[in-house]
Amino acid sequence: MTSKFGHITLGYVITLLVLTVAIVSSYAILQDKITSERVLRKTDDLINQIQISVYDSVGVMGDFWGESRKDQPDERALQLIKRRADASMAELGRLHSALLQGRAELQETDVWSEIGWVIDFSPGSTNHQLNQYLERNAVALSGDTRGTPQRPIEAAGAYNGAMLAGYQDASRALNLIIDEFALEVASVHKLLTIAIVVTMVMVSALVIAPLWTRLNKEHRLVVEAHENLRQIAFVDRETGLPNLDGLQNSLTRDDAIGSGAQPCHLLLVRITNLDELYGLIGSHRSSALAQLLSQRLSEWGSEQLNWCRSGEAEFCCIVSDNRVRRSEAWIGTLHQHLTSRLVIGGIVVRPDVSIASSAIDNARSFFDGLLWEHQSNARLASFEYQSKEGVLPEYSASHKQALANKNQLINQISEAIDSRQIVPFYQFKVDALTGEISSIEVLARWVKPDQSLVSPGVFIPVAESSGLITRLTYALFEQVSIDVQRWCASGYNIGRVAVNVAGDTLHDGELLDRLAAMIDRLPEGCEGLDVEITENIAIGNNIEETEAVFKKIQGLGVRIAIDDFGTGYASLQTLLDMPIDILKIDRSFVLPMAETGEGNEVVSAMISLSKKLNKYCVVEGVETQWQWQQLAHLGADELQGFHFFKPASADEIANVLSGWDGLKLTA
Ligand code: C2E
Ligand code: CA
Ligand code: CA
Repeated sequence: MTSKFGHITLGYVITLLVLTVAIVSSYAILQDKITSERVLRKTDDLINQIQISVYDSVGVMGDFWGESRKDQPDERALQLIKRRADASMAELGRLHSALLQGRAELQETDVWSEIGWVIDFSPGSTNHQLNQYLERNAVALSGDTRGTPQRPIEAAGAYNGAMLAGYQDASRALNLIIDEFALEVASVHKLLTIAIVVTMVMVSALVIAPLWTRLNKEHRLVVEAHENLRQIAFVDRETGLPNLDGLQNSLTRDDAIGSGAQPCHLLLVRITNLDELYGLIGSHRSSALAQLLSQRLSEWGSEQLNWCRSGEAEFCCIVSDNRVRRSEAWIGTLHQHLTSRLVIGGIVVRPDVSIASSAIDNARSFFDGLLWEHQSNARLASFEYQSKEGVLPEYSASHKQALANKNQLINQISEAIDSRQIVPFYQFKVDALTGEISSIEVLARWVKPDQSLVSPGVFIPVAESSGLITRLTYALFEQVSIDVQRWCASGYNIGRVAVNVAGDTLHDGELLDRLAAMIDRLPEGCEGLDVEITENIAIGNNIEETEAVFKKIQGLGVRIAIDDFGTGYASLQTLLDMPIDILKIDRSFVLPMAETGEGNEVVSAMISLSKKLNKYCVVEGVETQWQWQQLAHLGADELQGFHFFKPASADEIANVLSGWDGLKLTA
């Protein structure tokens, strides 16, 4: 490539050099021609003057002849004529020498030799010599060989004719030469003009070429940058699928859907257990998961659909109205296709999905950027999806109503936090062996102005998803400090206090300070603080960061408990590598425990695992004496459940403490 370019450049430079030489030499030629032409023109003038002078001398001769023919020539007139003849001959001589000077620059042509011959006789001549000369040569000059003129003056007349004819020839020839020169000059001039123009073009090309190359390069860069921008703007890097903007961009007014000729729907597929999946495979394998899912979508169905990735765990495409109306025929297979087992990093996982659609009744939607609205509508509808029903939820106004309700709930929760309607309730945990109170868990309750209670199952998920959870948690911390101080001031021992901390709050910058402030305010009679964090939060995104936060919390003397242990999808190994003090076995493992002994294996295995790992083992959901006995027997350290205490308000706790007599393991 480079050497080819080198050859072209070399050829170019050589051509340019040749042209330059051509210009210089044709310019030299032209210069020479122009000079010669000038000389020729001057010579032409001289010859004209010679002609005049010769005519003049012939006239003088005529006069002389006339005078001399008289019997008695007027001596004075003769003298005058002689002087005129002398002057005329002198002028002729001067012109001749001038002509000779010019002649040096001219070629020796026949014309010139004739002129030279004619005039050579004259310099320094006298009338006598002239007469002699004319006498000798008049016959030859006139071409008249028939008779010898008797008098020199007659001969002069013959000479006169011959000379005039010679001069006319000379003049004509000279004019021809001049014309020829002019033609030559014109052709050289033309050549020179062409050479100059070509050279100028080539020199300009030489200047323009790098600029042109540069311009081309810039243009290429701009095109590349544009393509990159397009990729960034419209294509999802992980899957190579278009994003929602890319999908919108790919629709044109010319196709059936884009033109609105065909009613259509936005079909949305959402992965609903992303946290679980990340917990199992690790969030660093999120790309592999997205790629496998996008591959599954592309492979699904006989008809190619234009899938796009519209979110971390969400895909969309445009489908026809017809297809949606026949959804019961394919919804089941799509669900099955997407939720069948996947192997990522050697780990087997099963994605769970919700599917829904939103009708696009107006094709203008695409061009008004409303595809985003249809996406969020379909997402709303997807919360209604039940895989078992085999029905494709279609967005409707009721979904919007549900969303409006949710927004209203968010506002109400926010107000409830500020007006302290959300308060801490408490549930004791007991020592598994002695049944004595060992700690107390803080559980949020919303006490409405009419004193009705709202369960945390209603408002905690909304508080979490709307970002209100941290404000709520810190408000509870304040109240907990006050309640604990009040109880302990009355001389009761409550053991440790356990607070629930959500994922957002765990990574909140203020958490450590808030915990430290709470610890500072713990009175005597309170043995310390535990933080309960659910399994999926512990092993969700940013494991390293979570681990660092755990260590900082532990640095305050706070214990970390994994709540709902066994329900999440976290890799056990990853979980156990984390700095954790307590495993709190979920109540769903206690539920199946039966007096027949069936269903005890799992909880038994979990307790022994926790013992082996040297973790403090708590079991929640203990509702019967028998369960207590079993769990105590299996080695659980601490138990929580309705069998011991139900969650209660701060005032009720004060009452319980005052009248608490303890429970006996062996009833
Ligand atoms: P959790 O942290 O696992 O709390 C234990 C839940 O089990 C409590 O429900 C409690 O009332 C219930 N429970 C205790 N013993 C028994 C039993 O023997 N049988 C049965 N069936 N249930 C029992 P609650 O208070 O409704 O709380 C539900 C969940 O709400 C909590 O589960 C926790 O995840 C969340 N939550 C409650 N308060 C807070 C809070 O202040 N912050 C955060 N982040 N989450 C909270
Ligand atoms: Ca808890
Ligand atoms: Ca729990």
